[in-house]
Amino acid sequence: MQNHTHNVLLYYKYVEIEDPTAFAAEHLAACKEIGLKGRILVSHEGINGTCSGTIEQTDAYMELMKQDGRFADMPFKIDATDRHAFRKMHVRAKKEIVHLGLEDDINPNELTGKYLEPAEFYKQMQEEDTIVLDARNDYEFDLGHFRGAVRPDIENFRDLPEWVRDNKEIFEGKKILTYCTGGIRCEKFSGWLKKEGFEDVSQLHGGIATYGKDPEVQGELWDGQLYVFDERIAVPVNQKEHVIVGKDHFTGEPCERYVNCANPECNAKILASEENEHKYMRSCSDECREHPRNRYAFEHGLDGAQVQERLDALKTTTEV
Ligand SMILES: [Zn+2]
Repeated sequence: MQNHTHNVLLYYKYVEIEDPTAFAAEHLAACKEIGLKGRILVSHEGINGTCSGTIEQTDAYMELMKQDGRFADMPFKIDATDRHAFRKMHVRAKKEIVHLGLEDDINPNELTGKYLEPAEFYKQMQEEDTIVLDARNDYEFDLGHFRGAVRPDIENFRDLPEWVRDNKEIFEGKKILTYCTGGIRCEKFSGWLKKEGFEDVSQLHGGIATYGKDPEVQGELWDGQLYVFDERIAVPVNQKEHVIVGKDHFTGEPCERYVNCANPECNAKILASEENEHKYMRSCSDECREHPRNRYAFEHGLDGAQVQERLDALKTTTEV
């Protein structure tokens, strides 16, 4: 982005933080002082953050972190943008910095998969005996993924170990490559894979965010876009070509536009064009369209009869 005014930072580090609650309170005050916005999780095992600010604000934040011995060598992924990507500033103390919920937790500083730099990952993923496993959620995969990667059928990262156990035969005897957005999920997950008995386990160092910026690979073999957990939602990865893999929830047409189902109890992420968002009342099913607290109906001032009219119209267009 030329003449950008803001940056979005993505970073993590697995490092002992003695009193996460006290750290979170102090850190929040420091971030607010700088004028940063974003979401930061801290726990005994480390820090996981994504924030936005003006170039000056993000520079000040990175400088602040460099002065703390624990985070002095923490890498930052920096995306140029032209506005804040968050509305508020949150720093929260949690049990884990990514929620995997293992009975026997993994410390990635002690056990983790081999780190592959983007060029190594690019080469290895094309080898015969290799399987590429996406360590993210289904809706992240559906917007974009490495060509040929395995899509775990999970809505939450914490369900991934069970999914692997249920699908063990896919991975047996293969070299396993895992990847995620910034690398933090793979640190723990690849360690778990090794503990589970898989011998040859590697992870994409720095995640997709780093891969897309690497001057050598330039995001090659990535199809679609990268799902990000800020207001941008989707960002490009492959600098050489753009293949759309997302499909409109209603028509199956190529689509990279996420909306949340208007039924507040469902809130599912669905890919939908602007046209279909309106046609289908931004709801994933009839059940959600008819929900008494449907946000779309509320925003557009539709009463019960008008909602019914919309439903009838959809039935006549979909029934052949
Ligand atoms: Zn729904």
